[in-house]
Amino acid sequence: MNMEMQAAQIQFDKSHFFVFSLGISGRAIAEKLTALGAQVSAWDEQESARLDVPMTWLQDPEGIDFSDIDYFVKTPGVPLDHPYVQKAQQADVPLLNEVDLFLELNPTAFVVAITGTNGKSTTTALVTHILKEAGYDAVMGGNIGTPMLSLPEVDADKGCYVLELSSYQLETLDFPCFNVSIFTNLTPDHLERHKNMQGYLQAKLPIFQGCDLAIMSVDDEILESLSFELAEELELATVSVTGRNADVYVKDNALYHGEECITSLAELPQLAGPHNAQNIALAWSAVCEIISPENFRKALESFKGLPHRCELVAEKDSVRFVNDSKSTNAESSKGILQAYDHIYWILGGKMKEGGVASLKHNLSNVVRCYTIGEDAAVLESQLADVKDYVSCKTLDVALTCAYDDALKEGLKEPVVLFSPCCASFDQFKNFEDRGNAFIALTKGLK
Ligand code: ADP
Repeated sequence: MNMEMQAAQIQFDKSHFFVFSLGISGRAIAEKLTALGAQVSAWDEQESARLDVPMTWLQDPEGIDFSDIDYFVKTPGVPLDHPYVQKAQQADVPLLNEVDLFLELNPTAFVVAITGTNGKSTTTALVTHILKEAGYDAVMGGNIGTPMLSLPEVDADKGCYVLELSSYQLETLDFPCFNVSIFTNLTPDHLERHKNMQGYLQAKLPIFQGCDLAIMSVDDEILESLSFELAEELELATVSVTGRNADVYVKDNALYHGEECITSLAELPQLAGPHNAQNIALAWSAVCEIISPENFRKALESFKGLPHRCELVAEKDSVRFVNDSKSTNAESSKGILQAYDHIYWILGGKMKEGGVASLKHNLSNVVRCYTIGEDAAVLESQLADVKDYVSCKTLDVALTCAYDDALKEGLKEPVVLFSPCCASFDQFKNFEDRGNAFIALTKGLK
């Protein structure tokens, strides 16, 4: 199916759309559809999510004849095996999501799509920043910031959408045809929903369907073998930061494209570490046809980074404090643990499967660990044979202890790093709340 065929298939005006459910993206979808003249019904199983939406939308699916619905729009948080999704499918109601609607409504827009386990937001923000610096009307959204159906129109000639997409947004797409599709990396995550790594990969794979240029890291074995298959069918650019054979790669702390050195990676504090080198390599692969290495370097230097990722938030008495609260699993802390020479590492919270066991060989720059949160005891038992740790229970205690030790020990350029490797909701509302608590505590340090 090509995009024109899809466009012909979705009829907005007067069609009956059922939107399930009503989080940020569900509301944006329902609003857009209403504005387009569609008949919109919507529902959310959480009463609180239904409180402040227009009454005309609300319709409990229990009382609905599904054969009266023209389109069922599923938001990313709703699993495919949800009973209402299944009911819609049994009644042969076409299943759509916000990406289908977005592509339908923007059939000629240039779209860069970005997925992967880690680094999606950073790569999305970086690509957008580089394009903007080069004079393009680049706008980012999707899984980051503004929901895609609320994004503004972009300039017809110099416009570009940069969309961060999760596996949940990709899994139902048939043939999206993005212009550039980027797959950052693939490590175990969301397996409760996708069952296993194969299921997780399959959910993300539609990103490459019909794209003009596919870009992927080959540092994960699954992605490397996928790259051999895709190279037969697609225009493909590969990236490696660990010395694998790739089009764009890192050597001696510099980025290379074939034989050409594109830029040194030194002195980019907001993009420190091998994980960010991967994001930079992916971004270069996306823009290399239209941006010179010199302008690329300038854009890297002016990139401010995103809050809660590798974010330098304070510096006191030669001790730097870095907030990486967005790290919710071991894999997402691996890179930053190699980004500084002397790390006083604060970690903990509600642990993901496996805890930090996979990081044991990545701790050579860590001076000591400071644990907090619900699963601290398990994390400590995993760290015990490789590193000293201090049980701190709460973030304020951990920060004070780490700072005191860093001052006392006098190592060169010490960093107190908050990269928790865990979910936040045992002690905080979310990762932003947790990162903001860290920032506030650093301000109050004596
Ligand atoms: P995502 O949007 O995929 O969650 P982010 O850019 O928000 O990715 O980063 C989330 C966490 O992952 C942060 O802790 C960050 O330091 C780490 N990270 C960023 N880029 C990468 C990468 N390419 N590989 C591994 N971890 C990364």
